[in-house]
Amino acid sequence: MKSRGLVFLGPPASGKGTQGRRLAEENGLAYLSTGALLRRALRDDTELGKLARPFLDCGEYVPDDVMIPMVLEWLGKQDNGWLLDGFPRTVLQAEALDEALEFTPQAIVLHVPDDELRRRVACRLECEDCHRVAREGEGKQCPKCDGRLAPRADDVSANFENRLSEYRRLVIPTITYYCDLLCARIVNGTGSPDEVYARVRG
Ligand code: ADP
Repeated sequence: MKSRGLVFLGPPASGKGTQGRRLAEENGLAYLSTGALLRRALRDDTELGKLARPFLDCGEYVPDDVMIPMVLEWLGKQDNGWLLDGFPRTVLQAEALDEALEFTPQAIVLHVPDDELRRRVACRLECEDCHRVAREGEGKQCPKCDGRLAPRADDVSANFENRLSEYRRLVIPTITYYCDLLCARIVNGTGSPDEVYARVRG
């Protein structure tokens, strides 16, 4: 597991999925969104879905001992570059990742003020099949796979506020971990998706 890697961190609705997916596509990187993977498991009612449902239903993070082996298994199958969206989210996850990789990946951190996050989450749509976040004006059908574009079940206000407080409690220390190792790049995540992407690409 020595291949090149990037991790994306940021609060809910900061644009991790939109930016991470595009950066991965344009650079031929394998892409994993842990949130999308969990939502698919919930929809398909798999063992993982059954285990994760109580956490996702109330906006809590899924325990490290579930997330870490799942992501390391996926990484073990990657021979080339990769990008993780939504992992790590805790210092323990970041440490486990470094240990498995034997290096610290570059972290891109999207920064967006809380009010803007609340505004975004109130109107965001996601494809139920491929989990791509919809762009403004795309209607009800995913232009990539024809799936239905719908609000995410976890984007209701109480759930979102819980995810925001989990972010402060667990992800902020993870960002500090990457900053201390000089492996973090903080990116202003406000503006149009194209404007943010220009900053992400650097
Ligand atoms: P958001 O960033 O808007 O919360 P995600 O799709 O990235 O959306 O994640 C949705 C949910 O999936 C999280 O709130 C959490 O419950 C769970 N999840 C995703 N990644 C992780 C992780 N690395 N550790 C723990 N829980 C996770």
